Amino acid sequence: MKRFLMVVAWMAVGLALFTGSAIASDINVFVSILPQKYFVRQIGGDRVTVDVLIPPNSSPHAYEPSPRQMVRLAGAGIYFTTGVPFEAAWLDKIRAATPGLKIVSMADGIERKPIDRHNENGDHGDDHDDGHGHGSLDPHIWLSPPLVMLQARNILTGLIRIDPGNRKTYEDNYAAFIQKVVSLDAQLRRRLADGGKFMVFHPSWGYFADAYGLTQIAIEVEGKSPKAAEIARLIRYAETHDIRTILVQPQFSTRDAEMISKSIRGKTVVADPLSENWAENLLLVADRIREK
Ligand code: ZN
Repeated sequence: MKRFLMVVAWMAVGLALFTGSAIASDINVFVSILPQKYFVRQIGGDRVTVDVLIPPNSSPHAYEPSPRQMVRLAGAGIYFTTGVPFEAAWLDKIRAATPGLKIVSMADGIERKPIDRHNENGDHGDDHDDGHGHGSLDPHIWLSPPLVMLQARNILTGLIRIDPGNRKTYEDNYAAFIQKVVSLDAQLRRRLADGGKFMVFHPSWGYFADAYGLTQIAIEVEGKSPKAAEIARLIRYAETHDIRTILVQPQFSTRDAEMISKSIRGKTVVADPLSENWAENLLLVADRIREK
């Protein structure tokens, strides 16, 4: 009887493995941050399952993948990187630990610009690190719809490379997604037609600002809290330029932003650069910037 039960148990395990592998004919894709998951799902559709390395509300500046994530990564089909700072520290380790994994950069062909703080010190951070390992280049390329069109192309190419049989599906999905981004871009252009300046703690919105003729004023100085004199200068700046709203994000402290907003009798509002609900979130951020 005992032996019989053992056999039944083993058969169940075998069956589970069998059906498991049948379901796993989906392509397991890894990405670094949530907005990438949104992009990959748009193009991969039902063909892909997407794992995100950096959990919501963690900063992509100093993240360390868990051992469990490394195991899953080793069994994944493809990993789309985007150039966030933690990748620089981890990519070699990931490559060494997962020799079979295809690693494709979603940022291929995109020229990154130095983080531009417009902080009127003449200091544009060209040669030094901003304290979060950004180096001198701005990693936040996923927040510009025109640049996302290029990133979508890289995703399409990557998916076709590992799953050529479904090329048609991916191409159709890609075309539909591009349509969507084009209309989002037009909507944003309309909403932000007046241009203007906005103040933000961490300078995540440089490419977004470039795309829509806005000016981003960052509070953070090279990845650190500003000194008292700098805060006083920012308060004066906000007053002269009639800035009342200060953007903050859930991954960083809001203390400095609150101090400034209190002095100018303004308010802080959340603009999350890592929202998975990418398109809607950009419209929301546009509205918050417009509130002034
Ligand atoms: Zn950042």
